[in-house]
Amino acid sequence: MFSCGGKKEQSDKSELELKMNQIAENYVKLVLEIGLYRPEYVDAYYGPVEWKPAATSKKNVDSTLIFSLNKKTDDFLNKLDELSEYNATEIETFRYRFLYKQLLSIKGMIAIISGAEFTFEKETQILYDADPPKNEREHFSEILNELDSNLPGEGNLTGRYNNFKDQFIFPKGKLDSAFTLVMNECRNRTMNYITLPQNEKFEIEYVSNKPWGAYNWFKGNLTSIIQVNTDLPLTVDRVIELAAHEGYPGHHLFNSLIEQKLVKERGWTEYSVYPLYSPISLIAEGTANFGEKLIFPIDSKNKFMKEVLFPYAGLDTNLTEKYQKVIELVDQLGYAGNEAARNYLNGIWAREETLKFLMEYSLHSKERAEKKIEFIEFYRSYIINYNYGYDLVNNYIEVNGGTENDLRRRWELFEKLLTTPQTPSGLLNY
Ligand SMILES: [Zn+2]
Repeated sequence: MFSCGGKKEQSDKSELELKMNQIAENYVKLVLEIGLYRPEYVDAYYGPVEWKPAATSKKNVDSTLIFSLNKKTDDFLNKLDELSEYNATEIETFRYRFLYKQLLSIKGMIAIISGAEFTFEKETQILYDADPPKNEREHFSEILNELDSNLPGEGNLTGRYNNFKDQFIFPKGKLDSAFTLVMNECRNRTMNYITLPQNEKFEIEYVSNKPWGAYNWFKGNLTSIIQVNTDLPLTVDRVIELAAHEGYPGHHLFNSLIEQKLVKERGWTEYSVYPLYSPISLIAEGTANFGEKLIFPIDSKNKFMKEVLFPYAGLDTNLTEKYQKVIELVDQLGYAGNEAARNYLNGIWAREETLKFLMEYSLHSKERAEKKIEFIEFYRSYIINYNYGYDLVNNYIEVNGGTENDLRRRWELFEKLLTTPQTPSGLLNY
């Protein structure tokens, strides 16, 4: 690793930059090549078209291919190691660390396409540079007990919670206009703290038959396609969450700022590709989830729901506080999804048992629990990026002075995370 702020010659800088840019280009091409074998791995790419490998019919993963991919990755890692004598600014050090961690994650991805099956724990370390905590059932019991006393009535808690929640479903016919309205609100609020790149834009589409709730597809040129899945009904709070998470100050803002600040202004092409199963996803999901709370602190969210969204949806505004209290508690059950994924992927629980756990500890309806399992089967340990990602981002911002009482500092640190190369383990070191 190279160090910050040494005394070497200025000329080192440009040479360092050239070498880093070469490694970055090779890294992009490597990610694109791996994408030939796992298409969803390349979540976004807006770099030079000629860097894309020809879409050949080569779908066979054999030992020659694995050897060649591993050799390339090792080569690029070695080239990074050779740069250890250079001095660098803070942001250049971040860049180096980012590329290093992304390349290490690629080693894991190559093993996966060659057929390796990692445990949940190993996979989170190798793909996402992260060690999320393990929680026992007791951890969730306390939250469930509190929910129990907030939701009196007959039947089990999962049933009561889902019946309660059904009162807050957003009418489908009004969803599109509400989503646009909330997105504009999120955009305006964000603009109070962050200068948006000029001409950034997004489109919203409604889709079905997907394992996820919503998705941001970044197309480059500061443009996102945001898809909202209408398979399951959306509750009123989810409209806010999705607009903030997928749009502002979540994924659309993150992707647009990165394109503007790192790719266009600095020419750091490694950011023109987004490998889905890699550390950048923890930063992306963590900042998007943190962004939801940043833009709508509890009181402000309550006010917006009561004054705008509840009336818009024709819901009973007297229930806003009660609803908010319940969803806040349910929010604290987020890590239960990790435990379901851990036990299911490690082969400890069968599908039925995992389903039962998700219904009991995440309070999912059977339908929603099925969706969650579908997500886990496809995206595996990716699920940690939401809750552990949030915790790492939240912790980083809080310990650096971005507390709830200092909103300006909170946004400033948040913007730093969206505009500089970051890694999950780096967030732990402040
Ligand atoms: Zn997301």
